[in-house]
Amino acid sequence: MVDVLVIGGGNAALCAALMAREAGASVLLLEASPREWRGGNTQHTRNLRCMHDAPQGTLAGTYSEEEYWRDLLQVTGGQTDEALARLVIRASSTCRPWMEKHGVRFQPSLSGALHTARTNAFFMGGGKALVNAYYRSAERLGVQVRYNAPVERVELGDGGRFIAAFTGTGAQAERIEARACVLAAGGFESNREWLREAWGQNALGEYPSDNFLIRGTRFNTGTLLKYMLDAGADSIGEPTQAHMVAIDARAPLYDGGICTRIDCVSLGVVVNAEAKRFYDEGEDFWPKRYAIWGRLVAQQPGQVAYSIIDSKALGRFMPPVFPGTQADSLEALAGKLGLAPAQFMQTLQAYNSACRVGNFDHTALDDCHTDGLAPAKTHWARPLDTAPFYGYALRPGVTFTYLGLKVDASAAVRFGGRASPNLFVAGEMMAGNVLGKGYTAGVGMSIGTAFGRIAGSQAAAASRVPAAAMKQESSHAAA
Ligand SMILES: Cc1cc2nc3c(=O)[nH]c(=O)nc-3n(C[C@H](O)[C@H](O)[C@H](O)COP(=O)(O)OP(=O)(O)OC[C@H]3O[C@@H](n4cnc5c(N)ncnc54)[C@H](O)[C@@H]3O)c2cc1C
Repeated sequence: MVDVLVIGGGNAALCAALMAREAGASVLLLEASPREWRGGNTQHTRNLRCMHDAPQGTLAGTYSEEEYWRDLLQVTGGQTDEALARLVIRASSTCRPWMEKHGVRFQPSLSGALHTARTNAFFMGGGKALVNAYYRSAERLGVQVRYNAPVERVELGDGGRFIAAFTGTGAQAERIEARACVLAAGGFESNREWLREAWGQNALGEYPSDNFLIRGTRFNTGTLLKYMLDAGADSIGEPTQAHMVAIDARAPLYDGGICTRIDCVSLGVVVNAEAKRFYDEGEDFWPKRYAIWGRLVAQQPGQVAYSIIDSKALGRFMPPVFPGTQADSLEALAGKLGLAPAQFMQTLQAYNSACRVGNFDHTALDDCHTDGLAPAKTHWARPLDTAPFYGYALRPGVTFTYLGLKVDASAAVRFGGRASPNLFVAGEMMAGNVLGKGYTAGVGMSIGTAFGRIAGSQAAAASRVPAAAMKQESSHAAA
């Protein structure tokens, strides 16, 4: 029997597998996808957010624990567990040498990226290179890896003790026993039915989630998460809370990745299908706001919106992969985008005349704002008056869902408040402990790396406890 079974094949799973193996455990990793699609959402990532008290490697300046914590507190509106958040923050300051040992390389932040040179360490070659490096290292260390191995359910004993996992369905299902297990199988963002159930119907009779695009892997269907919740594991988070970005409406249903993001929102205005503005486009720096726009668009009729800029914005944001709709006048742009020209012009004229332009500075929370306009644009407000004009249709793009399993600092899955002796969880499956809502760029990988490493170490330690002792402990706990 294997010591540690790791379910999933992205960052959290790989960190857990490597740590467990380094601690001397035999490890089997089960990845739902075929080899060529391995690595889940992690293959699309670019960076992780890192605390540092002095310039370090590719990271400029300093980013203290307190500043990181304040950023997290602000974006989550307080919906975060401070002790676990601080654990993640501190771990982010020490994990990079370990990552480098397993082949991950870092590079300076790209110009035009989300103001992140100080806060985020970028992976050379992106998440795909990180995933490949971790798999290479895992295989070199003797971790067994199986692809095309989706786990449908697990077998649990008293007190949530892990006994075995089943991969495959029905009579074909294979039962795999292990002394300890780490669940790292992502969120449920690719489960269309679950999204529909969570989001329900809006006042217009629409099912908003039918218009959602999924930015990452199609393999994160939440099968195991659902199984665990039905089995009585303690949960955290709301099913509609997620990292959701407003992305190019032309993006594919799955795996569009980062190049479908539209990053010019704060440089212009955004209108809905009725050609009306609905939110402050300049509320805060884009890295702290980009992840709320998917949700904002999801709340609009038809789940569509349009980001409008003029040529003053060009060169100030990462250009999207597909060119925008272009026109020489705002009226012509409305026509090309299929928006009612009269309402569109009313919205744009009201915005243009409400702009109070001070010293425009896109790298600071500048003093360019609107006056007497609802909703206001509180920074970077400049009239859209310089042709050509551009528009991008936006759809909600789900990155990952936040509903997950509740944990404490040991990463153990909990049942009725009691920690399982040998079942642990990491990554998106528990990110909701730290992210009740909102997001700040790079924290997904910080959470997965911190808790993946903890879960792997804990699972290796649990695998050394004789099963009889574990059973005894569970029955004491139950008594
Ligand atoms: C386009 C995009 C860009 C992103 N950029 C960043 C970034 O730059 N920085 C950042 O911090 N975060 C980023 N994120 C978020 C980041 O991807 C996640 O926070 C992180 O990768 C989650 O790691 P994970 O291991 O929990 O999940 P994943 O990497 O998604 O891995 C889950 C794994 O579980 C497997 N799986 C699912 N179900 C089963 C099952 N039943 N049995 C077996 N295996 C299963 C999947 O195939 C997959 O391999 C991005 C996400 C996307 C989609």
